[in-house]
Amino acid sequence: MLSFLSRFVDSTPGDLLSEPHRRQVHGALWSKVAPTPVSAPRMVAWSPEVARQLGLDEATMQSAETVQVLAGNALWPGMVPYAANYGGHQFGHWAGQLGDGRAIVLGERVAPDGTRHELQLKGAGPTPYSRRADGRAVLRSSIREFLCSEAMHHLGVPTTRALSLVATGEPVIRDMFYDGNPQAEPGAIVCRVAPTFLRFGNFELCTSRGDVKLLKQLADYTVTHFFPELGAPSKETYAAFYREVARRTARLIAHWQAVGFVHGVMNTDNMSILGLTLDYGPYGWIDDFNPGWTPNTTDAEQRRYRFGNQPNIGLWNVERLGAALMPLFEEDESLVEAGLLEYQRAFEEEATRRFAAKLGLSSLRNEEDLALMNGCFAWLAAEETDMTRFFRGLAQVVTAETAPTELPAVVRESFYGEVPEVHVAKGVEWLKAWWQRTRREEAAPAELARRMNAVNPKYVLRNWLAQEAIDAAHAGDDSKVHALLDVMRRPFDEQPGREHFAAKRPDWARTKPGCSA
Ligand code: AMP
Ligand code: MG
Ligand code: MG
Repeated sequence: MLSFLSRFVDSTPGDLLSEPHRRQVHGALWSKVAPTPVSAPRMVAWSPEVARQLGLDEATMQSAETVQVLAGNALWPGMVPYAANYGGHQFGHWAGQLGDGRAIVLGERVAPDGTRHELQLKGAGPTPYSRRADGRAVLRSSIREFLCSEAMHHLGVPTTRALSLVATGEPVIRDMFYDGNPQAEPGAIVCRVAPTFLRFGNFELCTSRGDVKLLKQLADYTVTHFFPELGAPSKETYAAFYREVARRTARLIAHWQAVGFVHGVMNTDNMSILGLTLDYGPYGWIDDFNPGWTPNTTDAEQRRYRFGNQPNIGLWNVERLGAALMPLFEEDESLVEAGLLEYQRAFEEEATRRFAAKLGLSSLRNEEDLALMNGCFAWLAAEETDMTRFFRGLAQVVTAETAPTELPAVVRESFYGEVPEVHVAKGVEWLKAWWQRTRREEAAPAELARRMNAVNPKYVLRNWLAQEAIDAAHAGDDSKVHALLDVMRRPFDEQPGREHFAAKRPDWARTKPGCSA
């Protein structure tokens, strides 16, 4: 049968009581805990790509036994479930121990290609880290996590994956509108998959408690298993590791900006040490290109995690990781400084490269090119313009025989409302300058269009599309979840008959925030 390895930091877990009473766990980075069984699990959807990668064939995925495992009701041989211990800075403030309050790692699977993957159930019941919460997840947020992790992967954005989405058959109580009227909603469990779910917060927790021994054990484990190319653990290796995490984080966030993804809760406990997108909660996709937008209703005042602030927050978070690694740097602050510089350099480089490519340019060569890009941002932000449709439409404009003298229909229809003539005129000016600049590229216009279509997605997981799938699933119809999963597998391809999935946000979804919890 399927065999699993359980391999994590070799440290003493907290006590191994089967009743996961909530507690502070010291001197350990994980606690053994069994998932809490559910009454009537049902497979809602699974990802064929993740299953294939793990070597789980269709018959296995559809078997009654597999649903039991992916619901937390049974274990495959070798699985030793645990919850991880970590802390984190939430909304800029140190929050102490957080930990996996509703996520339980079942074990690690060695795939047919030799790669290793942790399987983690999210919503599988309480753990020692659940604090006052229930350890469960609602179907609504589970659909969002399942679909978005797969959509991000197919866009090429580094991310944790999702193997399965199982409905538990049990209600979960949530106050969805934060109005003091909690309601029962259907519960669900997503099986997430990643080489590791380690986060900045694991490192921060050790240091916050002065546990340098555990910090070093964790860092050595992380470097040895996930950054082996950096060499044997030493002060220099830890510094190189830190710079590499900074670099990956910067690149990740540049990629988010380029596709219009807003994470929504960039707390340090949600920052993957591998530079993966981690923890799909109140995330959202930019409809209109608005740097001030946040999908997170609990962040509506401060808007700390707004679209335009993600690069700054990434830097702030990398600084927190640097502070956590200081004992291993022998308190040498210049090593943190080097990581922060690396973040800034890598972000600049990656964001510039990605946005140049979105405009069909092989690079931004000079101040004039930079001004062209910034002019585009300013123009997009000035009126409600659909980011995804705008960039996708440019491939049609680049092949025009002559520079545009009026706004092409494909651009005009990416606006959300009536647009003042002065804005139209500015747009035409910008398009002209851009079109002329594309003529200085070596490649022919048709080739530029092809390249642009390979980086400007036609389909992203628009908030309102996910909401449609959620509403249907609540009414007992899973087909929209399946349809969305399928469309998002080929985000850069034209998919005839599927215009609905590339449509602008309808009016009903105008101020709809992403949902949380
Ligand atoms: P998040 O904002 O989703 O990253 O969650 C922050 C912390 O709260 C993490 O330690 C989560 O495991 C925990 N948490 C979130 N929701 C629940 C829940 N329903 N039950 C238990 N713990 C939770
Ligand atoms: Mg989290
Ligand atoms: Mg979450």
